[in-house]
Amino acid sequence: MRLCTFLDSGTPRVGRVEGDHVIPLAAPDLIALIRGADAAECGPPVPLAGITLLAPLRPVKLLAVVRNYAKHAEEMAQPIPPLPAIFTKLVTAVTGPSGPVVRPASTRELDYEGELAVVIGRTTRNVGEAAALEHVFGYTIVNDVSARDLQRLEPQWTRAKGSDTFAPMGPWVVTADEIPDPQALRIRTFVNGEPRQDGATRDMLNSVARLVSWCSAAFTLEPGDVLATGTPAGVGRGFDPPRYLQPGDVVRIEIDAIGSIEHRVVAP
Ligand code: MG
Repeated sequence: MRLCTFLDSGTPRVGRVEGDHVIPLAAPDLIALIRGADAAECGPPVPLAGITLLAPLRPVKLLAVVRNYAKHAEEMAQPIPPLPAIFTKLVTAVTGPSGPVVRPASTRELDYEGELAVVIGRTTRNVGEAAALEHVFGYTIVNDVSARDLQRLEPQWTRAKGSDTFAPMGPWVVTADEIPDPQALRIRTFVNGEPRQDGATRDMLNSVARLVSWCSAAFTLEPGDVLATGTPAGVGRGFDPPRYLQPGDVVRIEIDAIGSIEHRVVAP
Protein backbone atom coordinates (compact mmCIF):
# COMPACT_ATOMS: atom_id res chain seq x y z
CA MET A 1 0.00 0.00 0.00
CA ARG A 2 1.18 3.51 -0.82
CA LEU A 3 0.02 6.17 1.60
CA CYS A 4 0.42 9.86 0.91
CA THR A 5 -0.57 13.22 2.29
CA PHE A 6 -1.97 15.63 -0.28
CA LEU A 7 -3.58 19.05 -0.43
CA ASP A 8 -7.33 18.96 -0.97
CA SER A 9 -8.63 22.50 -1.50
CA GLY A 10 -5.88 23.76 0.80
CA THR A 11 -6.39 21.12 3.49
CA PRO A 12 -3.90 18.28 4.05
CA ARG A 13 -5.51 14.85 3.71
CA VAL A 14 -4.31 11.29 3.87
CA GLY A 15 -4.76 9.16 0.79
CA ARG A 16 -4.04 5.74 -0.60
CA VAL A 17 -2.37 5.76 -3.99
CA GLU A 18 -3.93 3.34 -6.48
CA GLY A 19 -2.40 3.52 -9.95
CA ASP A 20 -2.66 7.14 -11.07
CA HIS A 21 -5.31 8.11 -8.51
CA VAL A 22 -5.42 8.90 -4.81
CA ILE A 23 -8.30 7.65 -2.69
CA PRO A 24 -8.89 9.96 0.32
CA LEU A 25 -8.99 8.22 3.70
CA ALA A 26 -10.77 9.19 6.90
CA ALA A 27 -7.70 9.37 9.18
CA PRO A 28 -6.77 12.97 10.07
CA ASP A 29 -3.10 12.42 9.28
CA LEU A 30 -0.73 9.58 8.50
CA ILE A 31 0.71 9.24 12.01
CA ALA A 32 -2.84 8.87 13.34
CA LEU A 33 -3.43 6.18 10.73
CA ILE A 34 -0.24 4.37 11.77
CA ARG A 35 -1.49 4.56 15.37
CA GLY A 36 -4.74 2.90 14.27
CA ALA A 37 -7.08 5.70 13.18
CA ASP A 38 -9.84 5.01 10.66
CA ALA A 39 -8.39 4.00 7.28
CA ALA A 40 -11.81 3.86 5.59
CA GLU A 41 -12.19 5.41 2.17
CA CYS A 42 -13.67 8.86 2.40
CA GLY A 43 -14.41 10.40 -0.97
CA PRO A 44 -14.02 9.78 -4.68
CA PRO A 45 -10.59 9.04 -6.23
CA VAL A 46 -8.60 12.12 -7.23
CA PRO A 47 -6.17 12.07 -10.21
CA LEU A 48 -2.60 12.04 -8.90
CA ALA A 49 -1.53 14.33 -11.72
CA GLY A 50 -3.63 17.20 -10.46
CA ILE A 51 -2.71 17.25 -6.78
CA THR A 52 0.09 18.59 -4.60
CA LEU A 53 1.80 15.93 -2.51
CA LEU A 54 3.10 17.06 0.88
CA ALA A 55 5.63 15.22 3.03
CA PRO A 56 3.73 12.02 3.93
CA LEU A 57 4.07 12.85 7.61
CA ARG A 58 5.78 15.20 10.03
CA PRO A 59 7.69 12.88 12.37
CA VAL A 60 8.23 13.58 16.05
CA LYS A 61 11.80 12.37 15.57
CA LEU A 62 13.78 12.57 12.34
CA LEU A 63 16.89 10.46 12.85
CA ALA A 64 19.79 9.94 10.50
CA VAL A 65 22.99 7.91 10.36
CA VAL A 66 26.57 9.03 9.83
CA ARG A 67 28.50 7.30 7.00
CA ASN A 68 26.58 4.07 6.61
CA TYR A 69 28.17 3.17 3.27
CA ALA A 70 31.93 2.53 3.06
CA LYS A 71 32.39 4.24 -0.31
CA HIS A 72 30.67 7.36 0.98
CA ALA A 73 33.03 7.48 3.99
CA GLU A 74 35.90 7.09 1.54
CA GLU A 75 34.76 9.93 -0.73
CA MET A 76 34.37 12.17 2.34
CA ALA A 77 37.92 11.19 3.44
CA GLN A 78 36.45 10.25 6.81
CA PRO A 79 36.72 7.04 8.83
CA ILE A 80 33.89 4.53 9.12
CA PRO A 81 32.35 5.00 12.59
CA PRO A 82 33.16 1.94 14.73
CA LEU A 83 29.53 1.84 15.93
CA PRO A 84 26.36 3.23 14.29
CA ALA A 85 26.51 7.00 14.75
CA ILE A 86 23.04 8.54 14.97
CA PHE A 87 22.15 12.24 14.75
CA THR A 88 18.85 14.09 14.56
CA LYS A 89 17.62 16.46 11.91
CA LEU A 90 15.18 19.12 13.03
CA VAL A 91 11.63 18.24 12.00
CA THR A 92 11.12 21.82 10.80
CA ALA A 93 13.46 20.81 7.95
CA VAL A 94 10.82 18.45 6.57
CA THR A 95 9.28 19.56 3.31
CA GLY A 96 7.32 17.95 0.51
CA PRO A 97 8.75 15.70 -2.20
CA SER A 98 8.76 18.60 -4.66
CA GLY A 99 10.57 20.95 -2.28
CA PRO A 100 11.85 23.46 -3.08
CA VAL A 101 15.08 23.30 -1.10
CA VAL A 102 16.12 26.80 -0.07
CA ARG A 103 19.88 27.38 -0.02
CA PRO A 104 20.28 29.65 3.02
CA ALA A 105 22.73 32.54 3.10
CA SER A 106 24.70 30.60 5.74
CA THR A 107 26.17 28.16 3.18
CA ARG A 108 27.89 28.07 -0.19
CA GLU A 109 28.42 24.31 -0.06
CA LEU A 110 24.96 22.80 -0.34
CA ASP A 111 24.91 19.07 -1.00
CA TYR A 112 22.43 16.22 -1.53
CA GLU A 113 22.27 12.80 0.12
CA GLY A 114 19.67 10.44 -1.36
CA GLU A 115 18.54 8.03 1.37
CA LEU A 116 16.12 5.22 2.11
CA ALA A 117 14.06 6.28 5.14
CA VAL A 118 12.32 3.95 7.58
CA VAL A 119 8.96 4.85 9.12
CA ILE A 120 8.41 3.30 12.54
CA GLY A 121 5.10 1.50 13.05
CA ARG A 122 4.78 1.06 16.78
CA THR A 123 6.23 2.06 20.12
CA THR A 124 9.60 0.36 20.20
CA ARG A 125 12.14 0.01 22.99
CA ASN A 126 14.92 -2.55 23.26
CA VAL A 127 13.91 -4.55 20.22
CA GLY A 128 16.41 -7.16 19.07
CA GLU A 129 17.73 -7.12 15.55
CA ALA A 130 15.82 -10.28 14.61
CA ALA A 131 12.44 -8.72 15.43
CA ALA A 132 13.25 -5.11 14.46
CA LEU A 133 11.65 -5.15 11.01
CA GLU A 134 8.31 -6.08 12.59
CA HIS A 135 8.35 -2.58 14.10
CA VAL A 136 8.71 -0.89 10.71
CA PHE A 137 5.53 0.52 9.18
CA GLY A 138 7.03 1.34 5.82
CA TYR A 139 9.61 3.16 3.76
CA THR A 140 9.97 6.49 2.01
CA ILE A 141 12.66 8.66 0.41
CA VAL A 142 14.52 11.49 2.14
CA ASN A 143 17.12 13.89 0.81
CA ASP A 144 19.43 14.48 3.79
CA VAL A 145 20.39 17.94 2.50
CA SER A 146 23.69 19.05 4.00
CA ALA A 147 25.70 22.27 4.17
CA ARG A 148 29.27 20.95 3.97
CA ASP A 149 30.93 24.18 5.10
CA LEU A 150 28.79 24.31 8.26
CA GLN A 151 29.37 20.59 8.79
CA ARG A 152 33.12 21.25 8.71
CA LEU A 153 33.10 24.41 10.83
CA GLU A 154 30.55 23.60 13.52
CA PRO A 155 30.96 20.69 15.96
CA GLN A 156 27.22 19.93 15.98
CA TRP A 157 25.34 19.46 12.70
CA THR A 158 22.12 21.13 13.82
CA ARG A 159 22.49 23.99 11.33
CA ALA A 160 24.38 21.99 8.69
CA LYS A 161 21.64 19.37 8.45
CA GLY A 162 18.66 21.09 10.03
CA SER A 163 17.99 24.27 8.09
CA ASP A 164 14.43 24.74 6.86
CA THR A 165 13.68 22.58 3.76
CA PHE A 166 16.75 20.36 4.34
CA ALA A 167 14.61 17.20 4.44
CA PRO A 168 12.42 16.76 1.35
CA MET A 169 10.41 13.58 1.95
CA GLY A 170 8.05 11.40 -0.06
CA PRO A 171 6.45 10.91 -2.44
CA TRP A 172 4.55 8.51 -0.16
CA VAL A 173 5.15 5.77 2.39
CA VAL A 174 5.19 2.24 0.95
CA THR A 175 4.10 -0.22 3.60
CA ALA A 176 6.64 -2.81 4.75
CA ASP A 177 4.69 -5.77 3.34
CA GLU A 178 5.63 -4.51 -0.15
CA ILE A 179 9.33 -4.27 0.74
CA PRO A 180 10.11 -7.52 2.57
CA ASP A 181 13.87 -6.96 2.17
CA PRO A 182 14.94 -3.32 2.62
CA GLN A 183 18.54 -4.37 1.87
CA ALA A 184 17.67 -5.18 -1.75
CA LEU A 185 16.93 -1.72 -3.15
CA ARG A 186 18.74 0.48 -5.65
CA ILE A 187 19.09 4.19 -4.82
CA ARG A 188 19.89 6.69 -7.54
CA THR A 189 20.30 10.45 -7.41
CA PHE A 190 20.38 12.76 -10.42
CA VAL A 191 21.23 16.47 -10.56
CA ASN A 192 19.78 18.22 -13.59
CA GLY A 193 19.31 14.77 -15.12
CA GLU A 194 22.98 13.77 -14.64
CA PRO A 195 23.50 10.54 -12.65
CA ARG A 196 25.41 11.23 -9.43
CA GLN A 197 24.61 8.43 -6.96
CA ASP A 198 23.91 4.82 -7.89
CA GLY A 199 23.95 2.72 -4.74
CA ALA A 200 22.48 -0.47 -3.34
CA THR A 201 21.06 -0.79 0.16
CA ARG A 202 22.81 -4.16 0.51
CA ASP A 203 26.01 -2.10 0.91
CA MET A 204 24.81 -0.47 4.14
CA LEU A 205 27.36 -1.00 6.92
CA ASN A 206 24.46 -1.23 9.40
CA SER A 207 21.24 -2.80 8.14
CA VAL A 208 17.80 -1.30 8.72
CA ALA A 209 17.17 -3.97 11.37
CA ARG A 210 20.41 -3.16 13.17
CA LEU A 211 19.73 0.58 13.08
CA VAL A 212 16.22 0.20 14.50
CA SER A 213 17.52 -2.13 17.20
CA TRP A 214 20.46 0.18 17.98
CA CYS A 215 18.26 3.27 18.34
CA SER A 216 15.70 1.43 20.44
CA ALA A 217 18.40 0.37 22.88
CA ALA A 218 18.88 4.04 23.77
CA PHE A 219 15.46 5.68 23.39
CA THR A 220 11.83 4.98 22.59
CA LEU A 221 10.88 4.98 18.93
CA GLU A 222 7.29 6.03 18.32
CA PRO A 223 4.84 5.49 15.46
CA GLY A 224 5.74 7.80 12.61
CA ASP A 225 9.32 8.43 13.68
CA VAL A 226 11.57 8.48 10.63
CA LEU A 227 15.10 7.13 10.36
CA ALA A 228 17.15 8.04 7.28
CA THR A 229 19.59 5.21 6.70
CA GLY A 230 22.59 6.97 5.20
CA THR A 231 23.69 7.83 1.70
CA PRO A 232 25.73 5.90 -0.86
CA ALA A 233 28.73 7.42 -2.64
CA GLY A 234 28.34 10.15 -5.22
CA VAL A 235 27.57 13.26 -3.19
CA GLY A 236 28.75 16.63 -4.54
CA ARG A 237 31.52 16.85 -1.93
CA GLY A 238 33.02 13.65 -3.30
CA PHE A 239 33.93 15.18 -6.68
CA ASP A 240 37.22 16.96 -7.35
CA PRO A 241 36.51 19.79 -7.43
CA PRO A 242 33.31 19.44 -5.40
CA ARG A 243 30.05 19.97 -7.25
CA TYR A 244 27.72 21.71 -4.84
CA LEU A 245 24.09 22.54 -5.51
CA GLN A 246 23.29 25.95 -6.93
CA PRO A 247 19.95 27.76 -7.13
CA GLY A 248 18.12 26.44 -10.17
CA ASP A 249 19.49 22.91 -9.88
CA VAL A 250 16.98 20.04 -9.85
CA VAL A 251 17.64 17.00 -7.63
CA ARG A 252 15.88 13.72 -8.32
CA ILE A 253 16.15 10.67 -6.06
CA GLU A 254 14.77 7.27 -7.10
CA ILE A 255 14.48 4.15 -4.96
CA ASP A 256 13.21 0.78 -6.20
CA ALA A 257 9.71 -0.16 -5.07
CA ILE A 258 9.05 3.33 -3.69
CA GLY A 259 9.28 5.78 -6.58
CA SER A 260 10.99 9.15 -6.81
CA ILE A 261 11.13 12.65 -5.40
CA GLU A 262 12.27 15.65 -7.42
CA HIS A 263 12.87 19.16 -6.20
CA ARG A 264 14.49 22.41 -7.25
CA VAL A 265 17.09 24.39 -5.29
CA VAL A 266 16.23 28.05 -4.87
CA ALA A 267 17.82 31.17 -3.40
CA PRO A 268 16.30 32.50 -0.14
MG1 MG B 1 22.93 11.42 5.40
